[in-house]
Amino acid sequence: MQPYTDSADVVHFIGGRTVRGAGDRTQAVFNPATGAAARRLVLGEAADVDAAVASAKAAFPTWRDTPPIRRARVMLRFLELMNRHADELAAIITAEHGKVFSDAQGEVARGIDVIEFACGIPQLLKGDYTEQVSTGMDNWTVRQPLGVVAGITPFNFPCMVPCWMFPVALAAGCTFVLKPSERDPSASLFMARLLKEAGLPDGVFNVVQGDKIVVDALLAHRDVKAVSFVGSTPIANYIYETGAKHGKRVQALGGAKNHMVVMPDADLDKTVDALIGAGYGSAGERCMAISVAVLVGDVADKIVPRLAERARNLIVKNGMEADAEMGPIVTKQALERIEGYIASGVEEGATLVVDGRGLEVPGHEEGFFTGGTLFDNVTPEMRIYKEEIFGPVLACVRVKDFAQAVQLINDHEFGNGVACFTSDGNVAREFGRQIEVGMVGINVPIPVPMAWHGFGGWKRSLFGDMHAYGEEGVRFYTKQKSIMQRWPESTEKGAEFSMPVAK
Ligand code: NAD
Repeated sequence: MQPYTDSADVVHFIGGRTVRGAGDRTQAVFNPATGAAARRLVLGEAADVDAAVASAKAAFPTWRDTPPIRRARVMLRFLELMNRHADELAAIITAEHGKVFSDAQGEVARGIDVIEFACGIPQLLKGDYTEQVSTGMDNWTVRQPLGVVAGITPFNFPCMVPCWMFPVALAAGCTFVLKPSERDPSASLFMARLLKEAGLPDGVFNVVQGDKIVVDALLAHRDVKAVSFVGSTPIANYIYETGAKHGKRVQALGGAKNHMVVMPDADLDKTVDALIGAGYGSAGERCMAISVAVLVGDVADKIVPRLAERARNLIVKNGMEADAEMGPIVTKQALERIEGYIASGVEEGATLVVDGRGLEVPGHEEGFFTGGTLFDNVTPEMRIYKEEIFGPVLACVRVKDFAQAVQLINDHEFGNGVACFTSDGNVAREFGRQIEVGMVGINVPIPVPMAWHGFGGWKRSLFGDMHAYGEEGVRFYTKQKSIMQRWPESTEKGAEFSMPVAK
């Protein structure tokens, strides 16, 4: 199924059409379930970035001057098309990422939430107005779009994460260049085609496929006013520093190590379900996946055997099969990295309760599969505790009380998401107050905020001041202008040399 491109290869989308671009470098896009190289991705060059930015720059004045309600109507049509084609898009995601189809459908649905939010842009762009700040003078504030902005996105949500960015940016009046992950790039072209079908003028949304060469060209380009990035922490740090050096506004969301505290009074059935879903769903390749269970007091001895039983029996297979609970890992290299972490956990003395390595899925012998892995007695010095594994590996850390659990989490370098399972309201309240993490779930394992609340971590999980989407997203893609107006009466005369004050 390739209705969105006239080429078997995955190419760029510039000025309203698919183009092969300037370079001749290509790389394989795999189906992780079969291990087969399914398509080839054309890698962009700096000249392709120049072409895309020029196209976006040329489209900006007309798009900026298009009334917000008309921009919102384009978003409404796009929303309708995304809903209509959601399952096709989900199938494209499963074929290149590997996540199970129902999870891909969920990803598309969460992306659609942000499009729906962006449809309310006329209300969101309303400014403030003060009549009579001084006699005969009014002052108001407007937010105007920045111009050409860029988005650089990770492999793990090829639809949802771009949708955290471009619907808000476009609705706000910016024009956009997207650089998707090179591992699952096709969703970007599918959405580009739907945007065009929705009536978005050519040049307002562009896609340049590629790697670091494209990213660096975007970061250095004088006509790119802002960069939104989502990906791993070392790259987020690099994007933030390099973008700032070139005078750009940057929001760079990084990696994570999300903890879930289990208090002794938690409902154990619900907690086990939550840990299994949040730890192994999408093979742990979610920035909000739970990778550490912090087991307080005597709860560890009760819960670890139950987690082991469930982890051992996960149904791991091609994500397109209806009963699959977990699909493959995105690439062979990622699989090797994850299995390397498991070996390091064993070497460092953690208890390997369930070993997912070496899993074979019948009929998919070349696929990039590993099973669910569970460690107990993990301690804060171990690499499997400190570093982001980004795979189906759940580490249990035992602590004596609530205070120790909070301290452990607050000491970690990441602060993306966190959860606390308890039946004590005061513990829940104190957890929300004391924890140094951007997104907190109380009896909610993956607290991804809804479209109008905004998404962002703390510490080394986010570089920059503003969260993605929600009202922070609107602020990110616009700049404030304050206008003062006076129509003096003809009797007023002369220059004023002292600081103007209200009269
Ligand atoms: P990644 O950092 O490898 O890649 C992200 C993007 O950066 C891709 O488009 C890639 O092409 C580009 N890139 C990679 N190396 C680069 C380099 N050296 N210079 C310039 N650009 C480069 O991340 P990934 O493996 O695609 O995604 C997984 C990571 O993303 C995990 O760390 C995960 O936690 C994180 N993530 C974070 C969030 C969040 O909201 N905080 C959401 C999703 C994913």
